[in-house]
Amino acid sequence: MTLIDSHCHFDFEAFAADRHEVWQRCVALGMQAMIIPGISIPQWRSLFALVNAQTGWYGAVGVHPWWVAELAIEPAQLQRAIEERVARERAGNNRCVAVGECGLDANIDAPMDAQLAAFEAQLRAARSLDLPVIVHCVRAHNEVIRLLKSVRPPQGGVIHAFSGSRETADEYWKLGFYLGAGGTITYPRAAKTRATFTSVPLESLLLESDAPDMPHAGRQGERNSPEYLPAVAEILAGLRGISVDEIAAQATKNARALFNL
Ligand SMILES: [Zn+2]
Repeated sequence: MTLIDSHCHFDFEAFAADRHEVWQRCVALGMQAMIIPGISIPQWRSLFALVNAQTGWYGAVGVHPWWVAELAIEPAQLQRAIEERVARERAGNNRCVAVGECGLDANIDAPMDAQLAAFEAQLRAARSLDLPVIVHCVRAHNEVIRLLKSVRPPQGGVIHAFSGSRETADEYWKLGFYLGAGGTITYPRAAKTRATFTSVPLESLLLESDAPDMPHAGRQGERNSPEYLPAVAEILAGLRGISVDEIAAQATKNARALFNL
């Protein structure tokens, strides 16, 4: 089996004690690469120190909606900060493969106008840098789709941890956005999202752990880990009536295409 974890917060403290042991187990399962998202400006430096030290690890530059409230700069400055950071990485090992993660989250207290401004600035950075975007969207599909249609980042991106209807999935796919499948579909109660992932084109799917978050069904309360990614491929294979290897191979191909790996 070949695997790419398209979304893993492997730089988080939860992996400080055993990061390289976990990675070795992932490699033994067939994992070829992992994308580690940016979440806040102060995190970018340590993130790229980490990805530059390990073959197969890639980073993205962005500000996650949960960290927008602590942003002390204007949207135009945020766009410039991202462009400067990416330029620095391009001049070095060139392991920056996306802008993000960025987006909108209606479940948090951060004011939506600040979230919208920060998201739009990051979409503009993706446009000027010609990079794909890693999008976090919680209960805000209409607003996210509206902004994607207005800014049109040319390399598209991924709606990470996608949850929603087939109709919404089709809107994203038409805009050049892949759908990230992760822990959510391990829960039988996620019937709508499971139905969507059963019928969308295989060419639109990425696999992701979102570790250490998004524990799978049966592992609630535990640290999620990229080494459990094959379980997501197995669920998808069962839903779609094809082999795990076929799912994993196509998702790997999709991730390579999107992130230009
Ligand atoms: Zn994330």
